[in-house]
Amino acid sequence: MATSKDPYLEAKKQLRSAVDILGYSDEIYEMLSTPERIVQVKIPVKMDDGKLKIFTGWRVQHNSALGPYKGGVRYHPETNLSEVMALAMWMTWKNSLADIPYGGAKGGIQVDPFQLSPRELETLSRKYFAGISKFVGVDLDVPAPDVNTNPQTMAWFVDEYSNRNDAQLFGVVTGKPLELGGLQTRIFSTGLGVATVAKQAAKKIFGSIEGRTVAVQGFGNVGFYTAKFLNEMGAKVIAISDVKGGIYSSKGFDADEIKATISKKGSMFVTDYPNYEKKISNEELLQLNVDILVPAAIENVITEENVSKIKAKLIVEGANGPTAPEAEEYLTKKGVVIVPDTLANSGGVIMSHIEWVNNRMGGWITEDEARNRLIQKMENNLDMIWNFWENKLDHEKYNLRMAAYGIAVDKVVRAMKLRGWI
Ligand code: GLU
Repeated sequence: MATSKDPYLEAKKQLRSAVDILGYSDEIYEMLSTPERIVQVKIPVKMDDGKLKIFTGWRVQHNSALGPYKGGVRYHPETNLSEVMALAMWMTWKNSLADIPYGGAKGGIQVDPFQLSPRELETLSRKYFAGISKFVGVDLDVPAPDVNTNPQTMAWFVDEYSNRNDAQLFGVVTGKPLELGGLQTRIFSTGLGVATVAKQAAKKIFGSIEGRTVAVQGFGNVGFYTAKFLNEMGAKVIAISDVKGGIYSSKGFDADEIKATISKKGSMFVTDYPNYEKKISNEELLQLNVDILVPAAIENVITEENVSKIKAKLIVEGANGPTAPEAEEYLTKKGVVIVPDTLANSGGVIMSHIEWVNNRMGGWITEDEARNRLIQKMENNLDMIWNFWENKLDHEKYNLRMAAYGIAVDKVVRAMKLRGWI
């Protein structure tokens, strides 16, 4: 989401510190701080009322040293080139860290999709993809869903691209409907990934996740599945919230039961679930006396103002950027472990990779296989970053996020060197 701060400046700042820690040159910083390619497209759409509206869209390809560009496409009225550039850079680090053979990219259209009719939305989507089609491809750049885009959007993209190329090229996007080579597992993959790294980190900090208390902020796709899987793993989810506020129960909640109960009432809000001990605000949820806190809603919720009241020993970032840098510094000094977003929410793109491999093989991977592969990868990735942090870095000075950045940036630089780019 567009924030008040310029996200591209933030992204460059993070890169600068990683480059400094790794001792790389200014030229390397320059190479990585700007994208390899920016495609901007004008999209004229004849609206249902006969008027013409012109939209602008982008595909930003940040770095391809590790493989084809990869990253989602968002539709949002406030998205802009600066935001898409930042998100593209973050995808490079996320994919590098996830240890999947992809570079980083992101796309966006400045539009409020909820104001468009289905026909207008389809025209917009097809024209956007037609506009960028020379620059995407199964082995070149593979888009996916992001904010306000979904499997239907991907179906239009695939159809448009396949028609233009006289072949059924399903591997050109991921996050597709099942009928077009998508996977059942995609819907819960980010939440399962968040829960898996939480379990793995809890093992290191507390000995096990069994019986550990958790507060989950957010009951969207990521929050709901994170709570559901944490529950299945033996943790006790004692608080859950959404935009309207939250609920608390010392006995713990079953996310499936909450969802089923509120859906029956035609509601989406957790506060409409009746079996709680007390209602709490989002702010109170963050400050609960729990072992594990999972902010899985929006950015910038743990801030300078509330950080001294945070009691969790482990924070797992389901959302992108929920912890403000100043707050993070305080938590690092206090010894609180934060599993950073680049690692914690990489389950979605890892599942995308499994889908892409499956499409290219013309395969039929089972749900269990896809799920087990994701779990194994998330566990390995957490271990890899944790070991690097524990064995190679001074804990007082550096946290897991810096370790993650260091590993991700270093791998991209090594690939660029091997390829003779720098
Ligand atoms: N939009 C998701 C992300 O930002 C998924 C990207 C992908 O699967 O390519 O991680």
